[in-house]
Amino acid sequence: MKSVVLNVQREYECDVAVCGGGVSGFAAAVSAARQGANTLLIENGGFLGGTATKGLVAPFMTCYDAKGEKQIIKGLFAELVQNLMEEGGAVSPADCRGGDGYSGYRTAGHIGVMPFESEVLKRVTEKMCLDAGVRLLYHTTLIGCEKDGNKISCIYAADNNSIISVKAKAYIDTTGSAALAEKAGAETMRGNDDGVLQTASMFFTVSGVDKTALDAYMQNHPDMRSRFFMDEIAAGKSNGTFPCGTPKLRMFENPDGTWTVNMAQVDTQLNELDGEAITSAEIEQRKQIAMIIEFLRQNITGMENIQLVATASDIGIRESRRIVGKTIFCLEDMQTAKKFEDRVVVCANSIDMHGKDGVSYAAHKNENYYIPLSCLISKNVDNLLTAGKSLSADKYAFAAVRVMPPCIAMGEAVGITAAIAAEKGMSAGEVPYKEVQRILIGNGAYLE
Ligand SMILES: Cc1cc2nc3c(=O)[nH]c(=O)nc-3n(C[C@H](O)[C@H](O)[C@H](O)COP(=O)(O)OP(=O)(O)OC[C@H]3O[C@@H](n4cnc5c(N)ncnc54)[C@H](O)[C@@H]3O)c2cc1C
Repeated sequence: MKSVVLNVQREYECDVAVCGGGVSGFAAAVSAARQGANTLLIENGGFLGGTATKGLVAPFMTCYDAKGEKQIIKGLFAELVQNLMEEGGAVSPADCRGGDGYSGYRTAGHIGVMPFESEVLKRVTEKMCLDAGVRLLYHTTLIGCEKDGNKISCIYAADNNSIISVKAKAYIDTTGSAALAEKAGAETMRGNDDGVLQTASMFFTVSGVDKTALDAYMQNHPDMRSRFFMDEIAAGKSNGTFPCGTPKLRMFENPDGTWTVNMAQVDTQLNELDGEAITSAEIEQRKQIAMIIEFLRQNITGMENIQLVATASDIGIRESRRIVGKTIFCLEDMQTAKKFEDRVVVCANSIDMHGKDGVSYAAHKNENYYIPLSCLISKNVDNLLTAGKSLSADKYAFAAVRVMPPCIAMGEAVGITAAIAAEKGMSAGEVPYKEVQRILIGNGAYLE
């Protein structure tokens, strides 16, 4: 391996540096800045949202409790929902009661989802960041870091033209792949004990669905609400018209009348950290999508005239590297609904593990469960925090909390923690969790 001498052209200093502007990074940055921290966010794309925008993933999974009765993810998430609705870019989770197009005709776990427009999400998240005083640097990729003992002292990033350095007091890794943690020599993990990851999928959007016809078909064929055209898809797989992809129909209505389709998938294990492997997968996925569209036109009532609106610009990576935190949030914690003293998120999403042959579910008690702050703080790098996909969790707990509402709630919590750490000159682990909880509750979060 050759080492490269970095010629730094611009230097930044701030209190909190956030790496990665997906939904977790957005929430972390807004929340840190609102606590008074001078906050800078670097993002390698040209807008915020990550998987929610570049990946065209929709809808936001449920923010309700397991019975679908009460909204339990609130705080900054509720504010985002409100702002999106005011811009006509979302349907209230309270109005999504499952069983219709917005929930993909599903009921289990799909009460309280939130359909949204990814273009509106880009604009609204950006405005919330700028209003809070976050400095945004797009087209800027984290490439390295320096440490002083157990602390990160500086990170390096590159845009198309220059190398920049960012000196901060606290760093939040919301790259979705624990990229900063890896560069900082923090302990990380990836996949399960065998390193097996959930499948990657490329989402796409279509127009031209005859919703009246599709709704009526689903209404008149109750078996489809569990089978979701499995037989037609299986037949397509054996006769070569649907050579690969999900075993069930998965599509969700968006507020603007287009539909998001989640049916293309990489059937083999993809090395999500390798650019060459990702490139091949994306080329294959776009070919697959063309076949899926044709399959849907031929086989699904109401989809005879669909047109492709867009394929995701980035393949959706469900699972990647994660940090090892002070706590590893695990299946048993969920099954026993362990009420961590330092809980900062309460949620109830089911444990969905996506594999080649469909989704498998691990049992949990169908109760709310609690994410502790300590699984969002690096075990061995004192000023490194994370949220969202890079949290410290086993594969089961990860499979439940990787969806967008908990990611936002985690981001909100670590933003507050990082801001306090920066202000008080503490390591992240020294920040009193009761103070973080007090601020979260003041912002409307539910932590019971
Ligand atoms: C196929 C698929 C289907 C899903 N379905 C749903 C669903 O229906 N509902 C739901 O709620 N959730 C769903 N999820 C889960 C959810 O979308 C993600 O887990 C969540 O959006 C992750 O957010 P994040 O901010 O943690 O990470 P990401 O969205 O991965 O964001 C990371 C950001 O960091 C940036 N970045 C990465 N590396 C660098 C770097 N070196 N320098 C600078 N920036 C960098 C990226 O550009 C990106 O913007 C799905 C996920 C996938 C992949």
